[in-house]
Amino acid sequence: MSYDKVEVPDDGEQITLADEETGELNVPENPIVPIIHGDGIGTDVGPAAQRVLDAAAEATGRSIAWMRVYAGSAAREKYDENLPEDTVSAIRDHRVAIKGPLTTPVGAGFRSLNVALRQTLDMYANVRPTYHLDGVPSPVKNPEAMDMITFRENTEDVYAGVEWEAGTGGAEQVREFLEDDMEIADIIHDGPVGIGVKPISEFGSKRLIREAIDYAIANDRDTVTLVHKGNIMKFTEGAFRDWGYEVAEEEYGDDVLTEDELWDEHDGEQPDDTVVVNDRIADNMLQQLLTRTDEYEVIATMNLNGDYMSDAAGAQIGGLGIAPGVNYGHGRALAEPVHGSAPKYAGENKVNPTAMILSGREMLDYLGWSDAADLVRDAVEETISSGKVTYDLHRQIEGGEKLATSEFADAVVEKIETLS
Ligand code: NAP
Repeated sequence: MSYDKVEVPDDGEQITLADEETGELNVPENPIVPIIHGDGIGTDVGPAAQRVLDAAAEATGRSIAWMRVYAGSAAREKYDENLPEDTVSAIRDHRVAIKGPLTTPVGAGFRSLNVALRQTLDMYANVRPTYHLDGVPSPVKNPEAMDMITFRENTEDVYAGVEWEAGTGGAEQVREFLEDDMEIADIIHDGPVGIGVKPISEFGSKRLIREAIDYAIANDRDTVTLVHKGNIMKFTEGAFRDWGYEVAEEEYGDDVLTEDELWDEHDGEQPDDTVVVNDRIADNMLQQLLTRTDEYEVIATMNLNGDYMSDAAGAQIGGLGIAPGVNYGHGRALAEPVHGSAPKYAGENKVNPTAMILSGREMLDYLGWSDAADLVRDAVEETISSGKVTYDLHRQIEGGEKLATSEFADAVVEKIETLS
């Protein structure tokens, strides 16, 4: 495999698909893994995570052949484009990759490269585990009550990029269509208006919700909660909820119950080895995350709700410096932290690389290297518990040792070496 804008390492082998149906992979002991360091603090957390993942691979008798691929400012500098086709192809071909954050300008400017990557590769599930590590300070009393995983639909919703700028012909054409053909009068104010479209399909909703239910079954979780604003957006978010219950009722037999079935057929007593699908309205859900944290295990939701919710949940377990994520679809995985490029800290060797490291942990798990993945988690947890932390956690604890990004990575690598 060769590319113009990507150098393929010669010390690794390519991951291939073993089973089209299940998405199972053939993973060599020295896989080639594309990595985008990313914009802003990506240049700090990217290399730090790489070193930790290398150490975990080495400690378990393997190696990772990193393949640097470019997007965002690094791609503009090198190739004068935001997202080279070779970057997308390299990730598509090599199946498992990791990326740091990419900046998206607000208002004018190019569209989100993150959204473009997820859409182009049809990585339809953005999965964000939120769990507490011992020793991580938190603004809530019982951060350990949070052990939740969010499945966020990644390709649709108001994030799909179907929108027209105020004052353009496109926006006026859509306004005319709505007012004249659809007879929607007196809703849109006179004067310039920006218009966006919110597509939520049965196909997109059901495939995401299946992922969440499958995960709950495979990991002995009791509930899957559909989070929506279906009371207001009846035909989009309401439909998502209804399709979720349809999947639960029609595709899983007795293994999955709806909340109604739980009460009608089991008096509210959940039988062993079942998953109950319930739903919550998104605004209520945001407060329930704080007040009834331990009742929520697996969340399935749409793109915008999922983005808001996972940042809020991330705050409960120590903030954005901690929260990992990964995008899945069609036997591919692209790990990436929940946080963005935090430009004010760019290049300062200051921010917390934990979110990127733990995203890498998800990637190792996906490769089937659960021993290496566990090692990463344990080493990060023990490092933080020993009081060695970056600025974000240091400002929330008494004492402790404030480390730079690279020093924190050194400490985690050292811990991996002592644990293995
Ligand atoms: P952000 O980059 O996530 O940063 C917001 C704040 O979160 C930071 O100021 C910092 O808080 C804290 N933070 C984030 N990462 C941290 C880390 N690794 N360690 C410690 N603290 C961390 O959000 P933003 O400022 O709203 O967005 C900046 C850019 O990132 C935008 O262009 C946005 O589009 C982009 N973005 C990209 C992605 C992605 O690539 N997937 C995701 C989200 C946003 P304190 O200042 O309080 O310490």
